[in-house]
Amino acid sequence: MTLFEVLPATLAKTTGGDDFPVRRVFCVGRNYAAHAREMGRDPDREPPFFFTKWAETVVPSGSTIAYPSATSDFHYEAELVVAMGQAGRDIPVEKALDHVYGYATGLDMTRRDLQLAARAQGRPWDTGKNVEQSSPLGLIHPVSEVGHLDKGAIRLTVNGEVKQDADLTELIWPVADVIAFLSTLYRIEPGDLIYTGTPAGVGAVVEGDVVTVTIEGLEPTEVTIGPKAAD
Ligand code: MN
Repeated sequence: MTLFEVLPATLAKTTGGDDFPVRRVFCVGRNYAAHAREMGRDPDREPPFFFTKWAETVVPSGSTIAYPSATSDFHYEAELVVAMGQAGRDIPVEKALDHVYGYATGLDMTRRDLQLAARAQGRPWDTGKNVEQSSPLGLIHPVSEVGHLDKGAIRLTVNGEVKQDADLTELIWPVADVIAFLSTLYRIEPGDLIYTGTPAGVGAVVEGDVVTVTIEGLEPTEVTIGPKAAD
């Protein structure tokens, strides 16, 4: 007997119209030097670190996302997202890109006040980061369509005003290194998403804001910030 229904797998979409079942969401912290500095940290090239979010936090571009509870400082973070297509453990850097299915734009929305309070107390970041609807995602472009992304502008606007403006060349740890590191901690699985970190310029949103992420060569992610969830 199954006692209750649970959500079906989150299905992201590819540019070809296929469903991409999301398995897990991994995020890289502080992967652009200027953002590390704005967060009060030294951007020395320490190994990348990771946090995780539920797959169900992934919502498609075009969504209106509820302003979450328990925060008054809900932040945008524009990110390049890597969609994994092939499993692997202890993947060498030079083979890492073979495991990629494709790339998308995305947002790592964050309760910054809760994240910083947790950080200050040496507590986990879960309630700051793993937030309902907090991982908006654009269409996933297969590698066969866009190749691998190691350069190109990454920008974020709020209501048309540019807030983040950087280039993928500024990633402290490029995609291949991120995959190689992550695969020493977990067996990478098809359907895993890796949010690769955000450039400088993060900031807060309010109800009614329209947040748009563009990365050269990829479909944008755009979401509207809605009212607080009522139920
Ligand atoms: Mn992030």
